[in-house]
Amino acid sequence: MSAPEFVTIKAMEDAYQLKTYAKHELALEQGEGNYVFDSTGRRYLDFYGGHCVTTTGHCHPRVVAAIRNQAEKLIFYSNVVYSSIRAEAARAIIMLAPEGMTQVFFCNSGTEANETAIKAARKYTGRTTIIAMNDGFHGRTYGSMSATGFAKYRIFPPNLPGIRFADFGKLASVQEQYLEAGGDVGAVMLEPIQSMAGVRIAEPAYYRQLREFCDANGVLLVFDEVQTGFARTGANFFAQTIGITPDLITLAKGIASGVPMGAVIFSQAIAEKIGNGEHGSTFGGGPLACAAAKATAEVIAEEHLADNARELGGYLMDTLRKASIPGLVEVRGIGLLIGVEFEGDGKYMVPALLQRGILIGSSEDPHTIRLIPPLTIGRAECDQLVAALGDAATELFS
Ligand code: PLP
Repeated sequence: MSAPEFVTIKAMEDAYQLKTYAKHELALEQGEGNYVFDSTGRRYLDFYGGHCVTTTGHCHPRVVAAIRNQAEKLIFYSNVVYSSIRAEAARAIIMLAPEGMTQVFFCNSGTEANETAIKAARKYTGRTTIIAMNDGFHGRTYGSMSATGFAKYRIFPPNLPGIRFADFGKLASVQEQYLEAGGDVGAVMLEPIQSMAGVRIAEPAYYRQLREFCDANGVLLVFDEVQTGFARTGANFFAQTIGITPDLITLAKGIASGVPMGAVIFSQAIAEKIGNGEHGSTFGGGPLACAAAKATAEVIAEEHLADNARELGGYLMDTLRKASIPGLVEVRGIGLLIGVEFEGDGKYMVPALLQRGILIGSSEDPHTIRLIPPLTIGRAECDQLVAALGDAATELFS
């Protein structure tokens, strides 16, 4: 059955859904690999992945089969019972994790994962303060929102008490906040790459210094790898690319190829301190999401998607830098989490690329667009993107 006309879909959705989102003027009805199709059947190359979600591409046959098989067997039962698919998903995630990280808590979204990390840090250390980063993003529920370093999201006071902000990339700023909190600091929590801020990466030494600082002061190091995790940066987790092990890693977005799932990976010592009944989620670790997560982890391993992210990310960044694109200031990123900064207003690039049949993302930096495609993307598709960006930039900026 074909989809209704776009105007009908738009009118109905606008009538019944709370208006909290700015939307593109299209309805997506189908997806296959690196492409999505709108209600008229028009095809778009997906360099956005619905906010960095589609790790394995749209409707990967392996993931679809896993979801279908599980749906026919058992869609849901909670953590009051054991489940073979939950056991397998938990093992698959721990197998990918840095050494020493041994247990996973399942929830349903990135914001819940970060709430979990804040609770775990306070419980483990007995300390109140969380040092988060200016321009970091952690989600929309109270704890995660309060730890989000953009004031524009913290507009429902009072926020969660005990959050302080340091400048990303500067150890001295963390030290300063630590001293001002009188040492009552449970965790330093950060997006190791600030994606929403426009794909900002710190010097490798910074992450090592943070690890040393946390160790020296009994503070937990929490990496929000909601965007950087699950092979996007060319390793299972960004932490592995810089050779450090955080105490907690939070995950969501791509870990179940689009079926809602969040997770927190715990190091052994912290896991041992969280007891029965101290945290929970009805839907966390549900069979359907676990089937999708296990299949996602398998596809990542079997199709070498971390290698693809590293190679294709490198190829795309090189090609962008070499192309003479009007107004292009900088290309930065790692793997397939890439920011492209323009002199002019980058947000005009989003509709300009959409006209050319390609979905990309904006960021909180008005000059920077984000490229976060499925990890299955190929060279020809990267070339198509570079040509379209050049064409759009010539129209907009020259
Ligand atoms: N953390 C990061 C780094 C994010 O980018 C996001 C969402 O964009 C979140 C947390 C929140 O995730 P969710 O929207 O699944 O709650």
